[in-house]
Amino acid sequence: MPSYSFRRLPAADECNLSRFRFTTEPIDTAAASAGLADPAFGGFVAFEGWVRNFNEGREVKHLEYEAFEPLALREGERILAAACERFSVTRVTCVHRLGDLRIGELAVWVGVSAPHRDEAFQACRFIIDEVKHRVPIWKKEHYIDGDSGWVNCERCAAAPHDHAHDHAHDHAHDHAHRPLPMAHGPGARSAPVPAPDYSRQMTLREVGAAGQAKLRAASVLVVGAGGLGVPVLQFLAAAGIGRLGIVDHDRLEPSNLHRQTLYALADCGAPKAELAAARLVALNPDVRVETHVTRLDAANVASLLAPHDIVVDCTDNFATKFLLNDAALALGRIAVFASVYQYEGQLQVVAPRRDTACLRCVWPAATRDGLVGNCAEAGVLGPVPGTLGSLQALEVLKILLDLPGRLEDEVMMIDLLSLSTRRLKARPSPDHATHGRAVAEASVDIDVSYDSITSAEDAGYSIVDIREPVESAASPLAARRARQVPLGELLTTQLDPGERFLLVCARGVRSHAAAEALRARGICQVFSLRGGTAALDRVAATQARV
Ligand SMILES: [Zn+2]
Repeated sequence: MPSYSFRRLPAADECNLSRFRFTTEPIDTAAASAGLADPAFGGFVAFEGWVRNFNEGREVKHLEYEAFEPLALREGERILAAACERFSVTRVTCVHRLGDLRIGELAVWVGVSAPHRDEAFQACRFIIDEVKHRVPIWKKEHYIDGDSGWVNCERCAAAPHDHAHDHAHDHAHDHAHRPLPMAHGPGARSAPVPAPDYSRQMTLREVGAAGQAKLRAASVLVVGAGGLGVPVLQFLAAAGIGRLGIVDHDRLEPSNLHRQTLYALADCGAPKAELAAARLVALNPDVRVETHVTRLDAANVASLLAPHDIVVDCTDNFATKFLLNDAALALGRIAVFASVYQYEGQLQVVAPRRDTACLRCVWPAATRDGLVGNCAEAGVLGPVPGTLGSLQALEVLKILLDLPGRLEDEVMMIDLLSLSTRRLKARPSPDHATHGRAVAEASVDIDVSYDSITSAEDAGYSIVDIREPVESAASPLAARRARQVPLGELLTTQLDPGERFLLVCARGVRSHAAAEALRARGICQVFSLRGGTAALDRVAATQARV
């Protein structure tokens, strides 16, 4: 399993004494400035930022600072390193308060010492400005009138040209560590790659630093990197989900590109999972992306799903959807489903709970592959899966951020020609408690034991007699209803993925092999009667003696 990780910029080793840190305690300025003392230095400059009692015409009572710490510390260190390099200073410190602060308290302290005062002044000024513009710190102001609000933020207030300006300042620092593309003429400069910036979503009251940390800690498996999977992967990576798994066995084809806009024509022939991973790492190097160039099946579904919190189904076949549904129920994971047919789409979120409907509850036995066409057969406009995939990504973010309005116990249907939506109530079926069980059993054992065929039927199995017609005629099954499909025809027979099958042969050997072969094709609810009809005969004989 290839793992893509971000090649980070080296830390500021040329500036060993630089320190950027957060504290929830009052800042000890004496200790901080003592740490910058050097007998060879004649200049020391400090800046103190205090909490003031008004902002934009409103009177402030007190305020809170919150930071997305991993990102903020990294960015802070980069700023201090850039200051060291630009102004030839070696001793710099920046301490920023977090938590609740009163009026007049010290919120930020910047100290620089240098052989001469000019460098110290310039470096200090640079650090103050850069920290204000680049470090993800949020301020919640509590006003005298009882109201409060997150004030984001110096970073958001910066106009785009300010950002370009910041990066130009950083250029000298970056140039030392990063190979730059070819210059395009005298004086041409290539913009350094900035760090990921989540400020536009963190500004939302419901997200903030705490929400961003939740996204960072989350792990999501996306099955299918096609028309639905592309927007799901792009939005989740861009949002800063910490870990993304991609399962897709397909290679890119030119006919995919009108809806799978993550890829390029020149990529055709390469595995989509790997193409997607490379693009996502470029989009957001913070995200850990894992690829599985394989077809999801009954044998691997549990191990693929187990390491993740949420699975997003972006496939176009019902066998895989049911497989994911069952595995998610069995493993206690949330699954976000979508499907698309021409101009219409459906969205359903399945929580692993007894009292909410799953995919099998909504689609009991009526749906099977071939009944609903996929994109290749039915045709589709690119924005249709694009819309549904975007909605899937949105539901994932709502779940992770614990936002209200999640799709629960409902199927959302959207007609993208008329732009009408409907939300249909989905009720758990009486059998719902058994719906995840098959996979739980499947991951343990293919073989199941029953005293009689009718007790297997009572347990909900559809019986399939896979013996040859002559064998079946010689000793018919005592079943209320059994299909006869000889082994040779079984693998080409269409089986309803909504049903649970018990395969029966004479000794349980052929039926075991057949169940394994069917599971490998994504029909996971297939079991084998242990011991076959011979075991049933023995049970019958024993009972007759008793
Ligand atoms: Zn169910």
